[in-house]
Amino acid sequence: ATPTALMAGTGRGAQLGILIKGPEVLENTRRVDTVVLDKTGTVTTGRMALLDVVAAPGEDREQVLRLAGALEDASEHPIARAIATGAAEQVGTLPRVEDFTNVEGLGVQGVVDGHAVLVGRTRLLAEWSQPLGADLERAQAAAEAEGRTAVAVGWDGAARGVLVVADAVKDTSAEAVAQLRGLGLTPVLLTGDNATVARSVATTVGIDEVIAEVLPADKVDVVKRLQGEGRVVAMVGDGVNDAAALAQADLGLAMGTGTDVAIEASDLTLVRGDLRAAADAIRLSRRTLGTIK
Ligand code: ADP
Ligand code: MG
Repeated sequence: ATPTALMAGTGRGAQLGILIKGPEVLENTRRVDTVVLDKTGTVTTGRMALLDVVAAPGEDREQVLRLAGALEDASEHPIARAIATGAAEQVGTLPRVEDFTNVEGLGVQGVVDGHAVLVGRTRLLAEWSQPLGADLERAQAAAEAEGRTAVAVGWDGAARGVLVVADAVKDTSAEAVAQLRGLGLTPVLLTGDNATVARSVATTVGIDEVIAEVLPADKVDVVKRLQGEGRVVAMVGDGVNDAAALAQADLGLAMGTGTDVAIEASDLTLVRGDLRAAADAIRLSRRTLGTIK
């Protein structure tokens, strides 16, 4: 396409709520056949709510909430915001945290009221030899079967509870996936969350291909692997944990509602955080490039 046509396409993108880094970006869009979609904050709103608190046998529900809430108060993760907010509502002022550490894609750890507390995936607790036990495992399975995320809580060497959080699928996501399919693209859901939750969200929006339980650092390898299979990959994401994958993708699309790091790593920004704009972007580039044979 001529520079003039590409510039016009870029201007049209801005009208559609799509910010395009440079005119050449539209050229990369043409051959895309696969669209990898991050789950949390991209397909879902990322605004999570705390729905349930399950204490292990003999444990105090309020103490589970207090210690987990205090720890999550130090984290920016959407799950952490939900837990800290829910805990403050139910138990009041939260204690202070010392030695806080964020364990990327797994959870958080720190010292609260003299207890060494872990909050996150069961894998994080397993690393510290804190298996859930039958009762918490049952609560976890029940939550995940409903598409909710179960967050494990442990301290001083034992698992103590499970917190159930969920966020809503954006009401535009299913239509966006249908539009992407209509353009001949294969959607793939990519998430650090567990396979049951991922599968449930995928079914809701009409995605067949699901890659779950991927650590933030490994998301880029998933994109590389798909490219190695000869696929031309667009990636849509919002988080710090998506940045490397967005940069690796043949076309990176950031949610305008997402983090600056994701936006900087991307070729396109979907200003309104509406996934349907991803389909608009592909359509726009095909039309722009199609005008000049
Ligand atoms: P996604 O890929 O869906 O954007 P993340 O990579 O940010 O998700 O997180 C993957 C998983 O790690 C979450 O689903 C959650 O189970 C766990 N996790 C990460 N950070 C936290 C936290 N601060 N508190 C609890 N769980 C967490
Ligand atoms: Mg995300």
